[in-house]
Amino acid sequence: MVELEHARSILSELGLATASELLDAKIEDAMHKEATYLGFLSELLNAEIQEKRRRSEETRIKLSRLPHRKTLEEFDFSFQPSIDVRQIKELSTLAFVARDENVIFLGPPGVGKTHLAVGLAMQALRSGMTVYYTSLAHLIADLKKAAQQDRLSRRWQVYTRPDILIIDEVGYMQLERTSAELLFRVICSRYENGSIILTSNKYFGDWGELMNDTVIATAILDRLLHHSHIINIRGESYRLKDRLKGGVRVVPPADISVKGNSKNA
Ligand code: ADP
Ligand code: MG
Repeated sequence: MVELEHARSILSELGLATASELLDAKIEDAMHKEATYLGFLSELLNAEIQEKRRRSEETRIKLSRLPHRKTLEEFDFSFQPSIDVRQIKELSTLAFVARDENVIFLGPPGVGKTHLAVGLAMQALRSGMTVYYTSLAHLIADLKKAAQQDRLSRRWQVYTRPDILIIDEVGYMQLERTSAELLFRVICSRYENGSIILTSNKYFGDWGELMNDTVIATAILDRLLHHSHIINIRGESYRLKDRLKGGVRVVPPADISVKGNSKNA
């Protein structure tokens, strides 16, 4: 059919690849259902927009550099009773992002800090937002390298542009002066200007020691905590859950039981 070929090539030229591809099937379907013209048109355009959204989400997930794609639905809240489920539900509405507020997950290794951070991020990505994930160690190393190569301002945008910046694993690495200053600049540039989700195994009182500098630690915490939701998780490591089954307590390996001495979290 010349007409069909023509319509298909126009859709293609307009960049509506999915509509073009599905045209025959949608026409057949519409005839079968005796759909109205308008019904047919909405079906066809809907298929196009669904596919566009899916591709955009996939691209944004890839660009976010999340370590995995775990969702909030996969999180077993019954295992971690210290978490207020209503608070997580409220956060999952993403109103905190619209208000440029921060979310901070505190707790020992294995309690689900990264999982929850990624879960909120997946929710944000699903609703069209942008996210960037980094561990603190990677953030510092990356910005230092960029500074050495004289491309700090370009690299800076990676951390300032996304709707949500996740800074994971604060507390496993001692920060010297330059590193603490870089972190301070990142926090400042997002202050009231974008959300941060941060995870740490260290309580705020220990941050001065972590940065060898109470002045800079206080300045960082001042910005970070001003508009923030703090989720303090006190519980068992999910990684060790099978070993804790049946009431049999197994002493965790030294590297994860010693506070602040883990690379596994
Ligand atoms: P943390 O960042 O606090 O060290 P993670 O979020 O990395 O801990 O959790 C460790 C592992 O256990 C991950 O695979 C995570 O998906 C899983 N996990 C932790 N808590 C839960 C939970 N309550 N329900 C389901 N999986 C969990
Ligand atoms: Mg973690």
